Amino acid sequence: QEQTFVMVKPDGVRRGLVGAVIVRFEQKGFKLAAIELRTIDRALAERHYGDLRTKPFFSELVDYLTSGPVCAMIWQGEHAVENARSLIGKTNPAEASPGTIRGDFAMDIAGNIVHGSDSAASAAREIELFFGRHAAS
Ligand code: ATP
Repeated sequence: QEQTFVMVKPDGVRRGLVGAVIVRFEQKGFKLAAIELRTIDRALAERHYGDLRTKPFFSELVDYLTSGPVCAMIWQGEHAVENARSLIGKTNPAEASPGTIRGDFAMDIAGNIVHGSDSAASAAREIELFFGRHAAS
């Protein structure tokens, strides 16, 4: 079965939303394969968001991601990447539908609670980055 990488970002952890995010993934039918609460360093944050290196908000994004602990998770199931993206909702919470995590819990694009891999290739890369090669199936 497919695996995807999901991370409750620092604002989600600070607001006590880790449990709510886990409940939604479990209710959808995903299986939890790994979970870790950890404060990441700038090097890891920069590698994680490497695709966005040239964006004007990049350093702000790295500041945000390193501002407190994140909850990194591997979730497993049918079409895990696509199903996780639809549970999470659109990047901009103002456009995310009610019923999605961002639609229900966030208002600001720079604090949108949760990250989910956008493809199977990103999932493999991000799982290795956060959990090491042994974690990827
Ligand atoms: P994520 O990768 O976190 O799941 P995403 O794939 O939906 O989000 P990306 O376009 O990859 O969206 O952007 C990554 C993150 O960068 C967003 O989740 C958001 O926190 C931040 N971001 C995106 N656009 C902006 C912006 N215009 N201003 C501030 N932050 C932004």
